[in-house]
Amino acid sequence: MARRAAHGSLARLKRPITIAGGGLAGLSLAIALRRRGLHVTVLEAGHYPRHRVCGEFISGVSEETLRALGIADLFDDAHHHVSLAWHDRGRCFLTDKLPAPALGISRFALDERLRERFTGRGGELHTGTRARPEAADGFVWAAGRRPRPGRWIGLKAHVRITTTADLEMHSGSNGYAGLAGVEDGWTNVCGLFLLDREIPAKGADLLPAYLEAGGSTRLAAAIRAAEWREGSFSSVAGFELGPQPAVPGLLCVGDAESMIPPFTGNGMSMAFQAAERALDPLAAWSEGRQSWQETRVLIQDRLRKGFRRRLMAAALLHRALLHSGIRAAFGSLAETGILPFRPLLPLVR
Ligand SMILES: Cc1cc2nc3c(=O)[nH]c(=O)nc-3n(C[C@H](O)[C@H](O)[C@H](O)COP(=O)(O)OP(=O)(O)OC[C@H]3O[C@@H](n4cnc5c(N)ncnc54)[C@H](O)[C@@H]3O)c2cc1C
Repeated sequence: MARRAAHGSLARLKRPITIAGGGLAGLSLAIALRRRGLHVTVLEAGHYPRHRVCGEFISGVSEETLRALGIADLFDDAHHHVSLAWHDRGRCFLTDKLPAPALGISRFALDERLRERFTGRGGELHTGTRARPEAADGFVWAAGRRPRPGRWIGLKAHVRITTTADLEMHSGSNGYAGLAGVEDGWTNVCGLFLLDREIPAKGADLLPAYLEAGGSTRLAAAIRAAEWREGSFSSVAGFELGPQPAVPGLLCVGDAESMIPPFTGNGMSMAFQAAERALDPLAAWSEGRQSWQETRVLIQDRLRKGFRRRLMAAALLHRALLHSGIRAAFGSLAETGILPFRPLLPLVR
């Protein structure tokens, strides 16, 4: 009897949750928790709205997941991308259609909409606040990929440019870039390249310079000649793909847990899916129905099991994409019409 009473008073208490990182995983989780009436604080290092290095091409997330998080309507005016053209060093070797449309919306717009939804629902947001990863009850780490010495540089800008498909992929000897439409007629050009300190460029010119160095010379020239959206150029370096370094006892969601290679266009979907998978266990902890240790282990288990296969497949394909011989073989298969593009896609979803 006394035990039941204690359980009841804990449930009424609704323990507060703090989320470090107001990106897609952090804010979507925070919004969903607010819908359950829980007290949520988000600590975000940056400010909104802001451009972020991201392909802004959302593929593989279901309407049900977005609805479960209470954010489906935020995508009402997003592009629905269907057609795809893949170029290698300027030569188009594959055109196809995606089995399901991908969403196109800039991070400038999306993160701001999420912020607005969260604060509009009574959530507490502290911007310009850099949190530290600490294993504490009720503390969720959604602060994205962990800064560490890495081989990659990510570059992006919005430009006015004509494309031949909703998504144009351009692979080269040093990485790859995707072009996809976002709002107001802008095309997001976003690339992931092997860091090369010999490339003689600075600032925004890094984007065309890296494309040029990888063999996409025509695209580089078109981008140099195009109109650029003011303030949209962004760059990031100093990170690694795949599982991120773990801090014992720290609950991580989104890229903070594992970062899938960007060519999949699935990282943002994974951030939303991770939020959905964390939602019930966090609500159960907040309402006093389970311990933090049980909650953390349950969420980590769900994320590992749910994402393991696609992370492994994506890591292998990513390596293949950077290998000139394998890219040439892909090209030949595509030209003879037997590249198994459609069967490959579900492996990274
Ligand atoms: C080059 C490139 C291209 C990509 N293209 C695509 C694509 O086309 N499609 C796709 O689905 N995915 C793409 N991704 C991946 C996608 O951007 C991520 O998977 C997604 O942003 C993960 O969301 P997140 O919320 O986990 O992390 P983030 O969106 O990175 O959010 C983390 C947040 O935490 C904040 N933060 C960081 N440190 C702290 C701290 N100490 N304290 C408080 N706040 C902190 C950051 O400011 C940020 O707001 C791409 C990634 C790269 C690098």
